[in-house]
Amino acid sequence: MKVRIRRELLEYLLELAKNAYPNEFAGFLRERNGIFEEVLIAPNPHAGPSSVFFDTWMLPYDETIKGTVHSHPSPAPWPSEGDLEFFSKFGGVHLIIAWPFTEDDVRAYTSDGWEIGIEVID
Ligand SMILES: [Zn+2]
Repeated sequence: MKVRIRRELLEYLLELAKNAYPNEFAGFLRERNGIFEEVLIAPNPHAGPSSVFFDTWMLPYDETIKGTVHSHPSPAPWPSEGDLEFFSKFGGVHLIIAWPFTEDDVRAYTSDGWEIGIEVID
């Protein structure tokens, strides 16, 4: 199993992560024809390092949303306990972008917390 993501979106996500640093940024990922194409950035008034803020979001029903993305302001690309709990509730695929936010710092996880490959689509 692999997650497919459009290169333009991936580069945009890296920019968002850099701009948010030292805070986290987070968003929902929209899929079209099996490829992540778009991000919806959630309002996050309480952003701060290590905050788990997905839980408090009110997400409008949108069947094109198939995953989430958030950044870690540390070089740790693995999910925290809070992340895993959230992943399991949400389902789908979850990207984590760790500092210093290059393409190599992006990891994808299933809702069970298993790491899966990332295929970048040009
Ligand atoms: Zn996290």
